[in-house]
Amino acid sequence: MKKDDLITLTIEDLSSEGLGVGRSDGVTFFVKDTVIGDVAEARIMKMKKTYGYARLTRLLEESPDRVVPPCPVARQCGGCQIQAMSYQAQLSFKEKKVRSSLQRIGGIENPPMEPIIGMETPFRYRNKAQYPVGRDREGRLTAGFYAGRTHSIIACRDCLLGIEANGQILDIVLAHMEKYHIEPYDEQTGTGLVRHIMTRAGFRTGQIMVCLVVNGRSIPHSEELCAALAAVPGMAGVTLNSNFEKTNVIMGRRLKLLWGAEYIEDLIGDVRFCISPLSFFQVNPRQTQKLYEKALEYAGLTGQETVWDLYCGIGTISLFLAQKARQVYGVEIVSEAIRDARRNAELNGIRNAEFYVGRAEDVLPQKYAQEGIHADVIVVDPPRKGCEESVLETMIRMQPRRIVYVSCDSATLARDLKYLCGRGYEVRSVCPVDMFGQTVGTETVCLLTRSDIRQHMEAKLTTGEMDLTMAESKAAQMSV
Ligand code: SAH
Repeated sequence: MKKDDLITLTIEDLSSEGLGVGRSDGVTFFVKDTVIGDVAEARIMKMKKTYGYARLTRLLEESPDRVVPPCPVARQCGGCQIQAMSYQAQLSFKEKKVRSSLQRIGGIENPPMEPIIGMETPFRYRNKAQYPVGRDREGRLTAGFYAGRTHSIIACRDCLLGIEANGQILDIVLAHMEKYHIEPYDEQTGTGLVRHIMTRAGFRTGQIMVCLVVNGRSIPHSEELCAALAAVPGMAGVTLNSNFEKTNVIMGRRLKLLWGAEYIEDLIGDVRFCISPLSFFQVNPRQTQKLYEKALEYAGLTGQETVWDLYCGIGTISLFLAQKARQVYGVEIVSEAIRDARRNAELNGIRNAEFYVGRAEDVLPQKYAQEGIHADVIVVDPPRKGCEESVLETMIRMQPRRIVYVSCDSATLARDLKYLCGRGYEVRSVCPVDMFGQTVGTETVCLLTRSDIRQHMEAKLTTGEMDLTMAESKAAQMSV
């Protein structure tokens, strides 16, 4: 098989980038714009040693899971990779992906899976949008999204994952640029002013903020622009962010308030969060609440526990759990996030949460060795690469009764579960939560308990009067 050959294949899976995966003559091919169940004719574009890339030329048989993507630029835009797949099929794909990672990589033969928690409406769920601004081929001012793997802007006034007000906000900013001949930033030459339009919204509070990222220190006639933006329902503040660097990083460090408030607020459960243009906040607040409720359920708190929340970010999980625990310790590497976490604790009058800046793999072993702080429950929510081995090692030494693992990558989750399961823990429950509909992103919460607790419980369960929490405290007494 070589470049330009035509092949026929059935799409059986999706890659981590959302490309359809199928086989022809025993060779694996990645084909964009296909969904699981399609029978496709495709032209080979690139051959590697053991796999290749092919371009869809004709759909020979449409998958029963195919739908017409509601967004007109779904195919060109790099944001939604699987809008052409029904939401039900998306959910079952994600569920299967988690199960098969746990089986293949984690060596867990029959993972105790709960059904995936999907969204009620898998659109308009994002509270944050960042639109690059530029000119299209005809030279017109435009804002939208980068096409997959490129930096050419696909015009998109109203992304269906974002809030409806975004369209109105873009119209106002672009009209202002037009009126005063304000140039968009040009990545090639590094000239021009306006780079990105960023918006964030508090879903529960209804507050909206706009942050204009510019290659400069001000924007001409900003008062007039702010007055126009202030008329958008919910508008709480407009800020200017200066970014002079030739970089893909969207935001610079310098912020200037142009109008209104620098922060908006939102709630997850009963906890109120303060969100600045630069601070991290979960982008799907409705599903975040469901995810944290599941984490809380798995943590099995009674009010007496010491809980560690590793990779805590702005402390969303810590503060959510602090309401039900005796003491929570959060650890996070980014100092600004810890500043937000402390501020949010104060905002909510939460006094039993303490936060440390540092690497989880340094702070946890150190606190354990030097101060002997123990843990009843350890929650981890690491980035894609999963936990450092030294973190897992310390967790094993600390012997928490429960470990709640929140993961955005089922492969590294499975790897880490394998480590923990080889050292006295077992997976009791796994629950995928869909945070990123229309994309291949998959989030999972997982509960592990010590195997000795399970054995203890099983012995008692025959008498039918023991629940997990009781079994745990019995086992804890025995191990003292
Ligand atoms: N639970 C958090 C988000 C977790 S995202 C929330 O909802 O806000 C993962 C976090 O881990 C990021 O904030 C990242 O900065 C942090 N991080 C990455 N590597 C780390 C490390 N080695 N030690 C501690 N934190 C780390």
